[in-house]
Formats: sequence, structure tokens, C-alpha cells
Amino acid sequence: MRNIIIGTSGHVDHGKTEIVKALTGRDTDRLREEKERGISIVLGFAPLDLGDGVTAGIVDVPGHERFVKTMVSGAVGVDLALLVIAADEGVMPQTEEHFEVLRLLGVKDAVIAITKVDLADHGLIGLVEEEIRALVKGSPFESAPVIRTSAVTGEGLAGLKAALRARALGLGEREAADFFRMPVDRVWTKSGIGTIVTGTAWSGEVRKGAELVMEPGAKNVRVREVQSFERSLEAATAGMRTALALHGVRVNEVEIGMQVLSPGVLTPSNMLNAFVEASRLAGGAIKNRQRVRFHHAASEILARVMILQGETIVAGSEGYIQLRLEKPAVARRGDRFILRSYSPQRVIGGGRILEANAAKLTAHSAPLAMDRLKALDDGTAKDVVLACAASGGAAGFPAAGLARYGLTQGEITDACAALEREGRLLEIEGRLFERKIVSDTERALVAMIEGASAENKLLWGVDREELKERAGLREGSLFDFLMEKGRKEGILFFKGGRVKAGSGERELSTQDEKALGALEARIRAAGFAFAAKADLVVIVRDEKRLASYIHILADRGSIVRISSDGFMHTERYRELLEKVRDRLLGGGTVSIGDFKEIFGFSRKFAVPILEQLDRDGYTRREGDARKAGPKLGGSV
Ligand code: GDP
Ligand code: MG
Repeated sequence: MRNIIIGTSGHVDHGKTEIVKALTGRDTDRLREEKERGISIVLGFAPLDLGDGVTAGIVDVPGHERFVKTMVSGAVGVDLALLVIAADEGVMPQTEEHFEVLRLLGVKDAVIAITKVDLADHGLIGLVEEEIRALVKGSPFESAPVIRTSAVTGEGLAGLKAALRARALGLGEREAADFFRMPVDRVWTKSGIGTIVTGTAWSGEVRKGAELVMEPGAKNVRVREVQSFERSLEAATAGMRTALALHGVRVNEVEIGMQVLSPGVLTPSNMLNAFVEASRLAGGAIKNRQRVRFHHAASEILARVMILQGETIVAGSEGYIQLRLEKPAVARRGDRFILRSYSPQRVIGGGRILEANAAKLTAHSAPLAMDRLKALDDGTAKDVVLACAASGGAAGFPAAGLARYGLTQGEITDACAALEREGRLLEIEGRLFERKIVSDTERALVAMIEGASAENKLLWGVDREELKERAGLREGSLFDFLMEKGRKEGILFFKGGRVKAGSGERELSTQDEKALGALEARIRAAGFAFAAKADLVVIVRDEKRLASYIHILADRGSIVRISSDGFMHTERYRELLEKVRDRLLGGGTVSIGDFKEIFGFSRKFAVPILEQLDRDGYTRREGDARKAGPKLGGSV
């Protein structure tokens, strides 16, 4: 089963609507005004079963030059064009304009119908056919079949249908495993059902009951019913004309051009980077800073063009641009668009989105962005993944964000796996890092750690958090990853929130060792009555140095910090602990009074020591007494 969208195009009155009617039996001119004036004003839709498992939705566009905007909104999303040229008039201005729109939109293939052959003789039809050949020469439609038809006599209709079927079968299949996306081209309300939106499903699949989001506006909606051409379905897929009855949104909240989407993938954006080709038609040129009409999905948004290189993109040539939109669009890499001049309204170019939610480019950053845009333009899925990872720098790029870049889930998985195998990409907790950035960051971090250790030998390494901050790695998980890597490889050592490179040992001078020895001896001499800073500053006058020495002694396990200003030698502390343990293990308790009795302490010493024992888990306070703490097998 294959679903495709066929879009009509051609000059007004050349028989587009009539030929759709002849093929499908359906009159797409539904409005009274359309009937009265005999011209199409809005988009018309009709289903066409082409046989061989091919079902088409025909989008019939208006041909009058005043409705080019509508024509463009109908043409975006078309797989196969049905180019209509009347035998009695031949190629006319909107024939050319529509053809240019289809070409710029990248519509892959076309079938050309010469209509009203009942009104022209053979010679004239031959001339028209020559005109057509000249028009499509050098374009993707060069080899499109030209079928002579008449809606009046029925001539050529079977041949036209066969040609449409053959070309439809030649189109590539749409990728199925993609998120759902549908631009809204009509909206109305029906009592008892609620808000109904229709559009062409661009990607993925929608099922009854699906939770979707309407953007812009981030409105959560639920699908109550799915239809295609008045037929209720369990699901609709990409390439189908689709009507959705939605719960959660009122009709006046929906604007044509909004999109219904699987949640969490695309967000509205005012800044788009794109590839553009200037139209080959008269007036087809794009100027830097020009105000334009940006036609994308089913919407028209005013925008300003910034050309990345040069001042003008002349007719028929190409370039990279940034589009600054006056209202946000919901865009994805690979989306097609048309640009028209603000006034007069002329098609001036068209192209494809390379990047939505882009950063504002400046005169300085624009030249730097060129390589990146080139990679996004004609790169493989792997190139795109690498370009994204590189743009994330040391903060990485969220793997989930790749869908915005036009990749399907399968493409993302394959590309990431291949790049990881090739050693060019690293995925850490859902974020992607360019391998080169990882190794550069690793080198920089080790250098910073070594530098800090060399600067202050008394300090053991550097504070981890401080280092993370200084290296600018607060965001993302690269820092933790590299710390863990260093630990595993035996390059980095960790102690109490600090990290050190080289070895876990501190490299101290003999002078330092001497001072440490003196301090340790003084603290040991203080016995159970612990030493205070005032006792130690006599030995080391520089307070900062003293603090570092104390830190080192505590680090080595030589001393225990009892209070903010009290230090006890570890041997004494253990001795004390033994005695406390003896009393507690039998289920007994110790109080401040007991402490005084055993050790001859005053309250001043007893209180901080007991608090330290509590902290260490040897004792547990209960009223005025202490019981055995968890470390001595007591309850918690
Ligand atoms: P559109 O503007 O391209 O949609 O043109 P329509 O389909 O509305 O047709 C314009 C006019 O041409 C109508 O009056 C049709 O009846 C007439 N017409 C369309 N197809 C044929 C045809 O094959 N032969 C003749 N004689 N008239 C046709
Ligand atoms: Mg019409």
C-alpha cells in the first residue's frame, strides 16, 4: 500500500479542476463563489485510487495569479505534480510560475497533461508540446510524460491515470519509522465532534487516541478520530490526506499553517538557516536584508533574509542564508520552502531548511558557519551527527535533538553506532560529543590539575567542583566521565572531594616534613586534652600554611579534628575509643560526668569529644547519656 499526494498546477482556466473531476468524479470547487466565478480560490481535495496498491490524494490548487500563495501552500508536501497546459493557450505566466515553484520545492516527478485537445488541431497541439519540452528542459521534469487529454471527450484519461500510476510507483517509499507531523491546511468545527483539522501527513503515523501537540503554542491535543476522505481509519500515515478530530483545542485557537506533531521533537523557531536557490524567472534575485514572504508548510510568514556570503544571490544561483522570521515557524532540516518578495509579490527563490532553532549569525560568525551549513546541506547522516556534536562542544549535543535535523530514529541509531565504532563520537548519558573535543578537554583538565598541584604542594590536588567550574564544564556529564576515566586508568586520584594527578602521594619538601613532625609532636603531647590553634601557631606562624599542614596531618590520619579549633592525636583518640567501647559494649552508657571520671576531662573537653564520637558513629546520644553507636553495633 502506497500513499502519495498529487498536486495540480497550471494557469487559470486550463482545466485543472475539470481534469480532477474527470479522474475522480469529485468537484473540488466547493465554494459558491468558486462555482459562480468558475475559478478555484481555495485548495480542493479528491481521492484517487490508481490501482496496484497506490492511493493518491489530489490537491487541486487555484491557478489565478492572485492565489499563488494558496498554490504554494498546496504544493508543499506534493510528491508528484500534475502539470496542466491547455491545448488552445499553451504555456502561460502561471504555467511558468507554478512550474518554478514545483522545481524550487524539489517536487521529484511530474506528469504533464495537455488539456482541452478537443479545442485545438493537431498542429497547434504539436506546437504546445514543443513549448512544454522547452519549459522543462534541464529540470527534474525533463523526462515527464506528456499526455493529450480532453475532459469533454474523455480522450487520454486512461493514459493519464496509467502515467500517474507508473510515476507514483517510481517514487521512493517514505520512511515509516519517523515521528508524526502534519501541517494544518483547513480547520472547522462540527457539533458533537469538536475541532477538526485536515492536512497532508508529512511523516510518521497517527492513531486514534494519540497524544499530540499543536505548535506554535504547545497545545496538548488528543486524537478522537482519524479520517481520510470521509473514511474513518484506525491510523493514517505519511503521504495521506488526513482529517483529525481533536480534543483539547478550540477551533478559534487553530490557525492554518500550525502543525500537529508527536510531542517533544520540534519547537517553534524564529531563526532558520537554509540553502536557497534564486528563481530563474524574471525578478528572481535575493538581496541581503530583503524582506520576504516565507512560505513553509501551510503558512506564510514575513521574514528578513541575511545572506551568509555576498550581497545578492542572482537569478538561478544558490547560497546559504539565515531567515529571521517575524513569527515563529515549526521547521525541520530538509523542509522545503518558497520565498516571495514582499511587494510586488513574486516568487524569488526556494530552498530547504538546514537548521531550525538556529543561533543568530553575526558578521563575525557567518563565515565560520559556512562549513557547518555545507555539512548539513549535502552531508550524510553521519556528517550531520558530527556537525551537531561539534556544535555542542564540551557540553555535548542531546541525541534526542537529532530528529530536528531531519534524521529518523533508525538513521540516528545507525550513524551514532558507526561513528562510535570509528572512534569519532562518544555518547555519554544521551549526549553526543565529538571525540576530538573529549580528548582536548581531557588533556586540558589534567594540565589544570597538574598546574594547581605544582603551584601549591601543601594542598593535596584541587577541589573537584572548583575545577569543574574553572574548566567551564558545569553543563553536561563530560567532566564526571573524564574524572572516572582518569581514575580507571590510574592517572587521577581522589580524596575527599579533591582530585590529584600523577600519584596519590603529596610531594613535600624536607622543610615541610619537619614542620609537620613538630606539629604532630605538639598535638601528641597535648594528650586527651586536645591542642588548639593557639598552641600550634607558635610552631608555624603563617596561618594559611598552618591550615594546610593541619589538613595534611588529618589527611594522613595522624590527627583527628575534634572541633573547629581542637586537634587530638589519632593514637590518643583510639585509646579513648577503646575505653569508651569497654563501657558501652555491655549495654552500658557514658555521660559527661563519667568522662571526667575516666579521663579527668573538664566539660569543655568532654562535650566536643563526645560530639565527635557521635559524628563518627561510635556513640549515640540519648538524653544526657551516650549509648553504643552504629559502629559499635548499637542501633541507629
Ligand atoms: P482551472 O482554472 O484550471 O481549474 O480550470 P477549470 O477546470 O475550472 O476549467 C476552466 C474551463 O475550461 C471550464 O469552463 C471547463 O469547462 C473548461 N474545460 C476544462 N477542460 C476542458 C476540456 O477538456 N475541453 C473543453 N472543451 N473544455 C474544458
Ligand atoms: Mg480550478
